[in-house]
Amino acid sequence: MSEGSHAVRAEVESFLDDQWSLELTVREWWQRLAQSGWGFPTWPVEWFGRGGDADVLTLASRIFHERGVLGAPGGLGQTMGGPVVMQHGNEEQCRRFLPGLAAGTEGWCQFFSEPGAGSDLAGAQTRAVRDGDEWIVNGQKVWTSGALSTERGMLLARTDLDAPKHKGLGYFIIEVDQPGIEIRPLKQMTGQSHFNEVFFTDARVADANLIGRPGDGWAAATTTLAYERGNRAGTVGVAAGAGGSRRGGLLDRVVGDVIEEARALRARTSESADARNPGIVGRTSPVSLVAEFERDDDPIVRQRVSQYYSLIRLSEMNRERSRAEAAAGRSPGPASSTTKLFRSVATRLNRDLGPQILGAHAMLVGPEAAVGGAVAASTVQAPSTSIAGGTDEVQRNIIGERVLGLPREPDDSRTLPFRELKVGTQRPDRGAGS
Ligand SMILES: Cc1cc2nc3c(=O)[nH]c(=O)nc-3n(C[C@H](O)[C@H](O)[C@H](O)COP(=O)(O)OP(=O)(O)OC[C@H]3O[C@@H](n4cnc5c(N)ncnc54)[C@H](O)[C@@H]3O)c2cc1C
Repeated sequence: MSEGSHAVRAEVESFLDDQWSLELTVREWWQRLAQSGWGFPTWPVEWFGRGGDADVLTLASRIFHERGVLGAPGGLGQTMGGPVVMQHGNEEQCRRFLPGLAAGTEGWCQFFSEPGAGSDLAGAQTRAVRDGDEWIVNGQKVWTSGALSTERGMLLARTDLDAPKHKGLGYFIIEVDQPGIEIRPLKQMTGQSHFNEVFFTDARVADANLIGRPGDGWAAATTTLAYERGNRAGTVGVAAGAGGSRRGGLLDRVVGDVIEEARALRARTSESADARNPGIVGRTSPVSLVAEFERDDDPIVRQRVSQYYSLIRLSEMNRERSRAEAAAGRSPGPASSTTKLFRSVATRLNRDLGPQILGAHAMLVGPEAAVGGAVAASTVQAPSTSIAGGTDEVQRNIIGERVLGLPREPDDSRTLPFRELKVGTQRPDRGAGS
């Protein structure tokens, strides 16, 4: 271990010796973590971080893991929104938004996709019209994960119909719990309702919550997506995933109980992690299943499991690369699409291998089924990986055009005023509204 690593280890351990206790509430622990900078070690020192690089984040996370410490609050606000505010927002916005994100008293959702604007996100039709020092928002978003348990949303809305589509968008941080916003949960084929359709009817958002200028929203949106596709910017610790937010109901619970519950859940879903490659040897991973169900003498299965193993390792390396970019203060950029694409391919292979290894048992759900029904559950969950955060086809387009430098497809819609385009439900003969 290098001298620098020794120093980081000593600092993290001394902080944990002083401040960590199973008896704290989650709110108290996250507050201490935010003040120490160890919750978000790659954030700048002035904004709840340590100004560290990807190695510092990895090492701090490892120490948290070894000691069974509850990690920093996770969620879209912490992993995408905070870094976007630091990069595209102003000082006052950092002062207002970052404390709540760092301490986990606030969670954010992502109001991007619409019924007519998913892959073509720049075609978003939700309108924001200026009214004094506020904006009035009308339109519809869809597939909004976590809208019911978060306080604010990152909203992409059209501020100018006469500008070309990429240039007439605003990026707002909007309060979710207000009369102009109606949230309806959508049922997924997994049986759960993680995402929602959301209707905006004269919803209001302060001009002070506009990130950048009106019309600059696309730049902030692409930064958000780069974080989403590559490496969600670095929160420390194993229990990240515990989303920070007041509405999420976690803050006043005792840390020890939350950890115990997470442990029980991991045991139920069979996530016994290997110290070196936890992504590969969770008990439901094909690498583990093939041994448990004694299918390691089947050459086809062996070949596909090796392929799966290689994909996951490559994925981890790509993730490290975009982590290093983020930690060096650079936006993860279009190469994060490669990470996202690897994840999709590995997920599909996993979906196919589970049933190949378990046979008919893979169709059963519930605690009495093989591996607790986890294989059936991951089969129905699998399609979401290649859609959420931008589809595989869209990632391939980005890699082709922005990483490999291939020529763009001819596209008039980039230069014409938005109101003249045929996008989503918009028709030139009906006009795009006023
Ligand atoms: C689990 C999950 C969670 C999500 N959470 C959120 C969230 O929190 N917030 C949010 O805003 N959105 C969220 N989404 C939405 C997601 O971002 C969109 O579903 C995704 O961008 C695709 O858009 P779409 O569904 O409109 O499909 P479409 O854009 O209509 O695409 C349909 C098909 O056409 C293909 N296609 C489209 N354009 C091209 C092209 N130019 N070249 C080649 N093929 C093309 C696509 O690849 C796809 O196969 C979530 C989705 C999922 C599955």
